[in-house]
Order: sequence, then structure tokens, then C-alpha cells
Amino acid sequence: MINLFNYTESSLRQWLVSIDEPPSRGNEILKILHQQHETDFSACEQLSKSLRQKLASLANVEILSATVDNIATDGTHKWLFKLNDGNHIETVFIPEKNRGTLCVSSQVGCGLNCSFCATGKQGFNRNLTTAEIIAQLWVASKHYNITNIVFMGMGEPLLNIDNVVDAIELMLSDYAYGLSKHRVTVSTSGLVPQMQQLAQRTDVALAVSLHAPDDALRNILVPINKKYNIATLLATCKNYFGTSSKRKVVYEYVMLDGINDTPEHAAQLASILKDMPAKVNLIPFNPFIGTQYQRSSNERIDKFYQILSEQGIVATTRKTRGDDIAAACGQLKGDFNDRTSRRAREAV
Ligand code: SAH
Ligand code: SF4
Repeated sequence: MINLFNYTESSLRQWLVSIDEPPSRGNEILKILHQQHETDFSACEQLSKSLRQKLASLANVEILSATVDNIATDGTHKWLFKLNDGNHIETVFIPEKNRGTLCVSSQVGCGLNCSFCATGKQGFNRNLTTAEIIAQLWVASKHYNITNIVFMGMGEPLLNIDNVVDAIELMLSDYAYGLSKHRVTVSTSGLVPQMQQLAQRTDVALAVSLHAPDDALRNILVPINKKYNIATLLATCKNYFGTSSKRKVVYEYVMLDGINDTPEHAAQLASILKDMPAKVNLIPFNPFIGTQYQRSSNERIDKFYQILSEQGIVATTRKTRGDDIAAACGQLKGDFNDRTSRRAREAV
């Protein structure tokens, strides 16, 4: 049995050839599945009888079941999905005036251990399949008009790049979700070789979790910095979209009280991003049980923002959404038991 959620335009064509069916039917199957949300092909008259029979005996669609399904007072919707192996992942929908953003998970847990992140505190369990990434969107798009997708849920998408790239292909496909490449964003902690690979393989938007303007501090907050330091990371970002493009990389900067939020940090951040095609997204820290950090005050965030602006750096402050149901950035942690050891994680 194959799970159709794993199949992109091209791999579906190949599969159809392998079962002696015309490959051109692939696009129709994608439309039925992803746009009409139909999982039972037996009633789809537009498909030939032989194809319907083969689909019934050779293919299925594994839908994720939600064990928790909560809507916050601000309309933010969080699902806790149970995977086949008993692991859980979280997905969040954030409604705004002119758009609907879905925040998807790419891994069960995360091995990169950023010190301010609830997912990182859990350790890593496994990568999600393409099907498990797409199933999050399939469920959410049944309820909402999804205009934007961010890979900002659980996990480091670039450590699962093959499945993430296939999922992106479906997100952009006119036969599936038809989203604009400007409205799908991969967020990474800064894995330089994989960022270079991603640039070769897709042209969706990129967000980089910077969080500190110098290596000493970033080594503590985002430990992968010990492997790819800020200078290496920014050099990779500078040409990410090619030198002729006007597209900007978004730099995420979590505001941690007294840690990375002083006027000096702001000035230093402005100086390292000068002359870069950059936009800074200030994220008020979202606390979780057991964390040693606190959220910066609004005054401190405003001051930080003001310094960046004065230095000519475009910045936005992310509104915290859904925190009454622990759906805000960095509060996602699903639930699983089987963690890798810290040593294995640090070897990533
Ligand atoms: N692993 C990827 C994507 C998932 S995290 C990455 O690190 O970019 C998505 C964003 O949420 C990242 O910018 C991350 O640094 C931020 N984040 C993590 N924990 C947070 C917290 N407790 N409060 C606010 N933002 C947080
Ligand atoms: Fe992983 Fe991103 Fe959390 Fe760091 S911030 S631990 S990379 S999910």
C-alpha cells in the first residue's frame, strides 16, 4: 500500500506508469485529494474504472487524527495530532485580517537544543514523512483558507530537507494547494550546507533564527552556531536569493529579558545586517514550564525596534498569538518518550 499524501506531481506520474495507467491522470488525483478533500476514489466517475480499482487496492490516504483540537480566544487554532507510531506533533493556524497562516511541524522534537525553545528541550525523535507534513495542511485547509505556510512548528526543517522539499512542491502545485512561493517560508536555525541545498532546490521564502548579534551569545542560545558562526551564516544569507533578486531574508530575533535585548545588542544587530537584504522579526519570548528566561518588556522591545529603524533596518514585532492555549512560537512540544541522548544530539 502506498500513502498518496507522500506523492508529488512527478512521483505520482511515475507510480501511475508503474501500474500501467496513464501518467496524465496524476494531476486529477492530486486535485481530488488535496482540493476536493476526497479520499475515497471509488465514487470519482472522472477516473477510469481500472484506475479506481487499482487505487482501491494499492493506495490509501493516512489522515492524521487530532487528539487535542483547541481554538484560542483570538481565533488561533491548535491541533495535537497523533502519528501512527504514537508520537504527537502540533500544528497551528493563525487567522489575520488579510491572510490565514498555517504553522507546520517538520520533525518530532528537535535535536538542536536551543536554550529558549520548548521543542529543543525535548530532544529529537524522528523526521516527519512528506505525508505527515502534508496531512497537517490537508486537515487545516478543510476548515480554513490557508494563504501562507511557515515551517515554524516543531523541528528543524533543514534536517529533514528531502521530505520538506517534496511537501513544498505540493504546497506550490496548482493541482494541490497552489500557494505562492512568497507565501511559504522555511525557518532555519542556520544550517549552512542545507541552506545552500535549499536554494538550489526551491525558491520559497527563508527565515533565519539569529537571536543574537555576536557569536559568544549565539553559541549559548543557538548551539549550532558553534558549527556555523554568524559570519558564515550571513555570508550564505547574503546571496541566498541570488544577487539580482530584491527578496529579503527574514531574521528572527526572540526577545529575552536582560539577555539579548539591550540597546547595545540592537546597535550591534543593525551593524551586522547593514547592507544586507534583511528584515528583522522581533519575537517576544513565549515562556514555558521550566525555562530560565523571561519575556522582554514592551518598552524594551519598542526601544530595540526604534534603534533598528533609526539604523535603516526594516523590522516588525510579531504579535503573540494563541498563548492561552500554548500555541505560540516555541511553546509547541507534542509529546513523546523515546529521546536521543544529549551526546547524540550534540553530534548533529
Ligand atoms: N527550527 C526552526 C523552525 C522552528 S522554530 C528554527 O529554529 O528556525 C520557529 C521560530 O520560533 C524560531 O525562530 C525559533 O527560534 C522561535 N522560538 C523558539 N522558541 C521560542 C520561544 N519560547 N519563544 C519565542 N520564539 C521561539
Ligand atoms: Fe530546534 Fe528551532 Fe527549537 Fe532551535 S528553535 S531547538 S532549531 S525547533
